[in-house]
Amino acid sequence: MADIRLANVSKRFGAVTVLENVSMEIESGEFIVFLGPSGCGKSTLLRMIAGLEAVDGGQIHIGDQRVDHLPPSQRGVAMVFQNYALYPHMTVTQNMSFGLRNIGMPAQEIAQRVADAARILEIEQLMDRRPAQLSGGQRQRVAIGRAIVREPKAFLLDEPLSNLDAGLRVRTRVELAHLHQRLRTTMIFVTHDQIEAMTLADRIVVMNNRKVEQIGTPMDVYSRPASRFVAAFVGSPS
Ligand code: ADP
Ligand code: MG
Repeated sequence: MADIRLANVSKRFGAVTVLENVSMEIESGEFIVFLGPSGCGKSTLLRMIAGLEAVDGGQIHIGDQRVDHLPPSQRGVAMVFQNYALYPHMTVTQNMSFGLRNIGMPAQEIAQRVADAARILEIEQLMDRRPAQLSGGQRQRVAIGRAIVREPKAFLLDEPLSNLDAGLRVRTRVELAHLHQRLRTTMIFVTHDQIEAMTLADRIVVMNNRKVEQIGTPMDVYSRPASRFVAAFVGSPS
């Protein structure tokens, strides 16, 4: 069964419809990329899956549970924010522990999960630093670490690389691909960058103008674009 299912999901802001009848099924462990031009509704769709934005129509299921009326904390997915949103006065360890302490997890289990995540992300030597003492790429890893310790069913990443300079963006992209191979957790990654989508995705959801244009593997959307838009945005230049 699909891990995350959207059925006819719609969204309006005031009188403006920004998403209309969006449907898709995401399999457990897939790396899915929402790709489309700025303003096409990628962030809004991701925020609806996370529960940060209400749906105006349709249904969202995660696992066998309908979640579109549940608060974010009950959906079992973790959103990794673009601006990292780390607490400046806390160390890396404290930043990664904070959410677990808040839900009352025993200290020993928190320490174990933080240590495991630190090893996976190769940030063990940074754990006593504060965010100001970290590079952009290191902060990015801590932000992902904070999500990993919650052992979510899916990671939702909204343009996580867009604040990084070109070299670091490529390196972090490669790291993210390795991280996905190690964790095998479902990832939904939002970007307007075709190269990021082509290199990271198991399947790409190409979005434009309120709707999904095509869902397919990078090869599908590149060599068999379903519409003129897809051909112009990602397709082969034949
Ligand atoms: P993307 O992430 O693809 O760039 P967004 O999901 O951020 O696009 O936005 C989709 C559309 O919805 C845009 O036209 C944007 O201006 C509009 N929008 C997003 N959030 C709000 C909001 N809170 N209130 C009104 N309009 C919004
Ligand atoms: Mg966006």
